Order: sequence, then structure tokens, then C-alpha cells
Amino acid sequence: MHEVESDAVARDLIQLEDRWGAHNYRPLEVVVERAAGVWVYAVDGRRYLDCLSAYSALNQGHCHPRIVQAMMEQMSRVTLTSRAFRNDQLPRFCEELAQICGMQMVLPMNTGAEAVESAMKAVRRWGYTFKHIPRDEAEIIVCENNFHGRTTTITGFSSEPLYRDGFGPFTPGFVSVPFGDIDALEAAITPRTCALLIEPIQCEAGILIPPDGYLQQAAELCARERVLLVADEIQTGLGRTGRMFACQHENVQPDVYVLGKALSGGVYPVSAVVSSREILGVFRPGSHGSTYGGNPLACAAARAALRVIEEERLADRSAELGAWLLYELRKIRHPHIKAIRGRGLLIGIELLVPARSYCERLKDLGLLCKETHDFVIRLAPPLIISEEDLAWAVGQVRKAFEG
Ligand SMILES: *Cc1c(COP(=O)(O)O)cnc(C)c1O
Repeated sequence: MHEVESDAVARDLIQLEDRWGAHNYRPLEVVVERAAGVWVYAVDGRRYLDCLSAYSALNQGHCHPRIVQAMMEQMSRVTLTSRAFRNDQLPRFCEELAQICGMQMVLPMNTGAEAVESAMKAVRRWGYTFKHIPRDEAEIIVCENNFHGRTTTITGFSSEPLYRDGFGPFTPGFVSVPFGDIDALEAAITPRTCALLIEPIQCEAGILIPPDGYLQQAAELCARERVLLVADEIQTGLGRTGRMFACQHENVQPDVYVLGKALSGGVYPVSAVVSSREILGVFRPGSHGSTYGGNPLACAAARAALRVIEEERLADRSAELGAWLLYELRKIRHPHIKAIRGRGLLIGIELLVPARSYCERLKDLGLLCKETHDFVIRLAPPLIISEEDLAWAVGQVRKAFEG
């Protein structure tokens, strides 16, 4: 297509979306029409390297052929039974995911927020059943600057005014402590505390990594006080930080994993709560459910997505490439750069100025990034990225800063 024509196509589509779609996002003005691996192709004919990976839902890259094939095959067999009937994909998905997590049971859901909500129901009921917390008095400890999703309950224990304002009244039963402060955590625990809900690395807050030893200490404290440790690894899990789960950097095995995003490799919403027989055993027929949760299409996609992570050794790739990327980025000198930090291919460049203009500049240089928490540029390409493409990305970041 002629360049002027294709620009007009993009402009029309942007106008159409702004006219008919709710404005709850402020996207970069790129209109993607297809994608493969680490590359996305826009209607204006340009291609961009995806350095956001749909907030780490695309660890396996866009349209991974094995995942797409597994889905297409499943789609022509059976897509949805509801849990009123059994299907032949769910049992295998549960077994495979539980084993990867070193856990005993899986509760399948669809979106991340739903899995977080499901985990909170499980730990509350566990608290009443096993810890004999007085009815309706269970407390869950969360961390300041958390991001666990967008439901009203989750929004209610967020510390971010942007997420909360105008959406109350909120669900009671949550106590917030500073992230990374073990003394504050200890002080917040009461006999009514059933769980600590935590992200091992706070991604949306700006790739915040807690002090070394914090997760380990938190896990020991929780075990001692009979408080369940619920790790929200929706964004950090499944290879992103250079280990299968970010908790493993500190040899922590939580009581509950909450997973989503890359669980399907970006082809379909699939999430899960993964835990012990004791904890997920609190759910009895009728006490929880989801029409689409555990559907055969989701399970087939997730099984393929998990196989790709294991067989392509994506956690190891993330560790190796991430270390190299961090080293290369730290060579960039610019007065606007305050700090560069990360684990595996999850890297934040913290600036002293708003990051949006740098994300716009990177877009013009062919790199798609999204600022997180205003001052941080997140670099999180698909874990399948080649060394060559990653080196090119570093060059473009250098250009964005050094001109
Ligand atoms: C994305 C995310 C969620 C919410 O997942 P949705 O699928 O958007 O509901 C929850 N927790 C963390 C850490 C996330 O990154």
C-alpha cells in the first residue's frame, strides 16, 4: 500500500477506536495487524520489536507455531463443555502444571484478576477451617504499590489513587505494609491473618525488586505464624525472570502460586491457582466456579505453552540474555537515567523525567515499550528473542538516549 494511504488507514482506525471504545488506556499510536515471534507489523507497513510482550503474556513470542497448532487442532474437536461435564484436556493440564509448580492441585480460571480473587477465597476459607479465625474476620496482608488486577476488591487494596478513585465502597479485610520491609510485615500479622499476598517483584510499580533475603524471611515468618504465602507470579512467573518462578531466586516455595498471562503464550486467556490439596481442598462442589475456566481449548493452549517454555529452555534463555542486556544497558550514560535494574529479561530503566517521551522516541526507532509508573521504561521482550535482535534493540535504546 502507498505510504500516505496506509497512514490514513491508521488514522481512521485510531479515530474509530476513540469514538466507540472506552478510553481506559492511552496506547502508543501503533495499529498492529499481525505479529510473529518478537515482531509486530503495523497497518502503516512498519515493523516493530515488541519489548512489552503484552505485560509478559507473550514469553513464548507472538503466534508461536506449536501453540497455534495445538489450539487449531483443539478448536476443531471441542472448545467448551463447561465444568458441568468433564473434558479430556483438563486432567492433563492440571497434572502438568501442578508438577511444574511442585504442587498438588490446580484451580483453572481465565484472567489473572479472577485467579487472584479465587486465591483470596481459598485462603480465607482455609483460615476459617484450619486456623479457626472467627467468621468473617480473616485478614489478608498485601504490599503497598501492589498490582493484582482490576476487580473492585483488588482495586480496593491498591495504594494507587489512579486505580481507586471513584470506585468505592471497597471490600474490607485487607492490611497493607511497605514492600520489602520484614519488620512491618511481622508487626502486621495478627491471629486473624490468613495470608500474605505478594508479587516477588513489583512489576507495575516500576520493576521493584525487594532487598536480598526478604522473600526468604517473609516465607519463614509466614510458616512460623501459619500465614499462607500467596505469590502472584502472573507477570514474573513462567520463565520471565530467569527462573521458572521468581520465588525460586530465594529458594522460596510459596503455599499458593497465582499464574496467568504466559500460561497460554498470549493466544487465549488462561489463569490458575496452584496449591496444596489442603488449601484448594476447601472448595467443594458449588462453592466456586467459572463457565470458561478449565475449558478444553484453554487447557490445550496452556499445555502447548508450557511445553514450549520447557523445551525451548526459556527460563535459562531469559537468565543468560537478561544478564547480557542489563550489562549492556548499564553502559549507557545519560543524565536522565537514574537506575537500571532487573532480573532475567524483565528490566526497568528508571528515569528522572517522565518515561513517555522516551517510549515515543523508541517507537519511532522501531521498539515498542510502555512506561510503567510514569518514570520507568520496562524492557521485557519475548524470551525467544535471538541474540541478534536483542543486540539491535540495545543499539536502538542507545540511540534514543545518546542520539
Ligand atoms: C496482569 C497482572 C494481573 C492481572 O491479570 P489480568 O489478566 O489482567 O486480570 C495480576 N497480577 C499481576 C502481577 C499482573 O501482572
